[in-house]
Amino acid sequence: MSVDDLKAKIRDVPDFPEPGIVFKDIMPLLADPASLNETLDLLAEWVEPRKPDVILGAEARGFILGAALAYKLGCGFVAARRPGKLPWKTVSATYALEYGENSLELHADAIDDGQRVLVHDDVLATGGTARAICDLASQLGGEIVGVAFVIELDFLDGRKQLDGYDSYSLIHY
Ligand code: AMP
Repeated sequence: MSVDDLKAKIRDVPDFPEPGIVFKDIMPLLADPASLNETLDLLAEWVEPRKPDVILGAEARGFILGAALAYKLGCGFVAARRPGKLPWKTVSATYALEYGENSLELHADAIDDGQRVLVHDDVLATGGTARAICDLASQLGGEIVGVAFVIELDFLDGRKQLDGYDSYSLIHY
């Protein structure tokens, strides 16, 4: 199975969630057993040599493959969540999105000092989300050993927000 086969499983949804945005829907890719397997294998191949202790996934689509990657590689899983969802003490960051603004929180004790953290989300768009998560995890003492995405929207140049981080995307547009 090639990366082009995986790309064929991603659905473009024009004008979602707002006019002018073409939403990259990974649900058809996740629903197909062979595509899900191949996507995870390819992501895990890149992540494994970076030897993370935990996978840090962004709400909500970063939880799906993030948790599967953690299981596959024998890591822990940490969730970056929308404000008010985490029950204990949190640290939070607010940042600009391709559409609007967002905030994410981590539990204040989610990352141990010196822990090796791999950040994962489904899509790298403007890079604000991934950057905010990297900053939060670093603030808690984590070492960001990589940032891995399924999809990168090259034309939005989100990679420049991740300058200095080792980052990888399986599929590019
Ligand atoms: P950004 O912070 O701009 O890199 O946006 C990344 C976050 O927004 C990720 O959690 C993505 O799931 C979501 N996102 C942004 N743009 C898109 C898009 N065109 N298609 C699907 N998800 C997107």
